[in-house]
Amino acid sequence: MPAITLEEVLLTADRRIHERGRELFSQGTVSQATRAADVLQARVAGSSVHPYRIRIDLTAGVWSCTCPYDQGAVCKHVYAVALAGLEAPRQFEQATVKNNSALETLLKALEQLSDEESWTLLEALERLRPEIIEEYAFNIAQRDNGW
Ligand SMILES: [Zn+2]
Repeated sequence: MPAITLEEVLLTADRRIHERGRELFSQGTVSQATRAADVLQARVAGSSVHPYRIRIDLTAGVWSCTCPYDQGAVCKHVYAVALAGLEAPRQFEQATVKNNSALETLLKALEQLSDEESWTLLEALERLRPEIIEEYAFNIAQRDNGW
């Protein structure tokens, strides 16, 4: 039983977020949307070079966004993804259980790694998928700049 529904997520937004979130959704900025049970994840193109990453966990009743306005309240990106979940559910790929357990396995393994092993992993990731490292570094820099 989810702690919160998508409708309720939308209801927590004020009128300004409601308008801008709907605008983002209708502009087709929501991409790479996946849904696994009550967890929705997607990206929303915004003013930043990199799209923001949004995660909504209905079971836990929590959501997050990598944008600078993520301060607990629903931002326009979270709003756009929640709206997409309601109005364009077929846009969401069904995330497979296999993917989830691979991520869980990796996260467990990460806890055991030495600093040197973590470094090797990050270097390998940087070689294969530099955009992931770039996006991550970019988001950290934004946060550190007091956004
Ligand atoms: Zn946001």
